[in-house]
Amino acid sequence: MKVTRMDTRALSVPLARPFIGGRQQPREKINPVIVQLTTDDGLEAFGLAFAWNDRQINSLKASIDDLEEVIIGQDVFRWAEAWERLYNATRHMGHHGYGIYALSAIDTALWCLRAKALGLPLAHLLGGYQREVPAYASHMLFRNWSLDELQRDAVSLVKQGFHVMKMNMGDKPFKVELERLKAVREVVGENIGIMIDANWAWTVSQTIQIGREIERYHAYWLEDPLASDDADELAQVAKALDMPVSNGETFCTKYDFRSLLEKKSADILIVDLQRAGGITEWMKIATMAQAWNIPVASHLFHDFSAHLIAAIPNGLIVEYMPWWDVIYQEPPQVKDGYLEIADKPGLGLELDPEAISRYEMK
Ligand SMILES: [Mg+2]
Repeated sequence: MKVTRMDTRALSVPLARPFIGGRQQPREKINPVIVQLTTDDGLEAFGLAFAWNDRQINSLKASIDDLEEVIIGQDVFRWAEAWERLYNATRHMGHHGYGIYALSAIDTALWCLRAKALGLPLAHLLGGYQREVPAYASHMLFRNWSLDELQRDAVSLVKQGFHVMKMNMGDKPFKVELERLKAVREVVGENIGIMIDANWAWTVSQTIQIGREIERYHAYWLEDPLASDDADELAQVAKALDMPVSNGETFCTKYDFRSLLEKKSADILIVDLQRAGGITEWMKIATMAQAWNIPVASHLFHDFSAHLIAAIPNGLIVEYMPWWDVIYQEPPQVKDGYLEIADKPGLGLELDPEAISRYEMK
């Protein structure tokens, strides 16, 4: 079975509520690119990559389109060959930017084709460890939420069935950050997991200082505390703090993750599908983490990542971030804190053509 056609569509999807998550302007839209592959048997499947504005998405789409000549004619089931060809073809673009995003989207579409061709859910083909996976709410509790909004949304997430939620920190004096955390803890009670994502805000000493205070509120994890993303410095923080320290979402391919594991820089690895190098590389990184007894959580892409976390024995939790769910006829639903793997071939999700034509950039 060979790939005979590749189509890419760049979308511009407004977000219901602009947010500030790191050192950035408010995010008001999300720009996914849908990469659809068709085989000589007429089978179709898609992968995704995304950027943050209409300019970036043109560059990302161009990076993906550049690989069309590489992937046309590729045997769908020769997955290692396909990955190496894409990796070599993106060497000039670089393996830390849109080159690796482009590779990832195509590699992901190829895995969805394989699962469809075999009539298996993607999670089943990749390992089939479990049929449902815990998911945490990541789409609320941002830096620009007021104290009232934090409390109201935290209560609403509990009512929706989430057992774990993430709040963002990093731009306020420590006293204020801790008051916000205390306010959320007070309204959700002791049985809800609260993750803290600092989005690369602090130095080592600042992180240890505020980290010891955060621990008093029983945080589920502290994510990306350090501005440096340096494996040695992350290891200092992971060693100093009792609560789990998680990182990895900006790291690309097994080569980046090797240093995080060797230096014990993370108690929990966060692996992003489009930076990892697609499903092929995501699975290899998860296996490397298992050799160090490190659990793996996914970053974004809950539509695909639920399958990945469900496939592996050291899969911890899926980040639920429904930014581009409008592209699906029936988007994944979190029920009582879990995402279920549908008993359908491939990804198990159908694109909504009307929504895609509404959001497609012309
Ligand atoms: Mg994060």
